[in-house]
Amino acid sequence: MIEVVNLTKTFKKVRAVDEVNLYIEPGEIVGLLGPNGAGKSTTIAIMSTLIQPTNGDVLLQHKSILKNPAALRNLLGVVPQEIALYDELTARENLEFFGNIHKIPRQKLKERIDKVLVQIGLENERKKPVKHYSGGMKRRLNIGVALLHEPEYLIMDEPTVGIDPQSRNYILETVKKLNKEANTAIIYTSHYMEEVEFLCDRIYIMDKGRIIAAGTKEEIKAILSSEKTIVLKLEKHSNTFVDALMKQGILSNIQVKEAHISFNVAKNTDFLPMLLPLCEEHNIVIKSFHVEEPTLEDVFLHLTGRALRN
Ligand code: ADP
Ligand code: MG
Repeated sequence: MIEVVNLTKTFKKVRAVDEVNLYIEPGEIVGLLGPNGAGKSTTIAIMSTLIQPTNGDVLLQHKSILKNPAALRNLLGVVPQEIALYDELTARENLEFFGNIHKIPRQKLKERIDKVLVQIGLENERKKPVKHYSGGMKRRLNIGVALLHEPEYLIMDEPTVGIDPQSRNYILETVKKLNKEANTAIIYTSHYMEEVEFLCDRIYIMDKGRIIAAGTKEEIKAILSSEKTIVLKLEKHSNTFVDALMKQGILSNIQVKEAHISFNVAKNTDFLPMLLPLCEEHNIVIKSFHVEEPTLEDVFLHLTGRALRN
């Protein structure tokens, strides 16, 4: 387990990271979600022992790594926000270069490079210089570099910023696969809530240097509301049905727009035993039915009064 304890980092007047606590256990995918300037990259730079905190600690198996960074570096792969590759070199040559920095033995490195090229889907492009790569291909190679030494933990800092949707999907799928097949634990940093929602078991929401919410998706969304919204689409509008619905004490905020009806019920209410007989009684055919959940964006807006993306 890696833990961050009361971490604070100040740059002159800016409190980039302010008393942050978080942890990641083996095999988890943890999201760090926050707008630009929230302090995500600074947190990550301290966790990956690139910069020293002003205060607080980073623990590996409950032991501080600030004085013994080597213990963590072998277990950790870091995909930096800024792409760090040699443009004149091919994918294979870049991987060789970074593999040598990690002191991976020659034969082992050869095997790892072949494996990694497949994992990042660049096996057919391995002989092209990186300068001819698309933005998405560079991002994928940037990830490949971090995978060479088979890290138990992988930290990815906004790995999909500024790339085409296809590469983005490829990267998201690669992250899922790595976690599933190699059981790699991943800290995934992003300001895209859909990515974090899609990938992560647990999520930290960060803003202005602080963690403002933490938990599973469900736990975080529960901050927002003790109610759920139900949306029904009927075959046709019916005044008598709407009147009957309104008489049900358990529904609130009923809104009707022609054949569309939405209403709120308390989160744990089982309302179908009420709804179905009512439909039958009024000869109502339901064409579609869904439960609307709040998004992480809604939660962020609720907690900060601002949108996640500005
Ligand atoms: P994020 O990755 O969430 O966008 P950062 O960690 O990069 O956020 O930045 C958090 C805050 O710290 C920002 O206000 C940023 O301008 C500031 N900051 C980051 N690095 C430095 C630095 N090296 N010197 C001064 N200020 C910095
Ligand atoms: Mg950043």
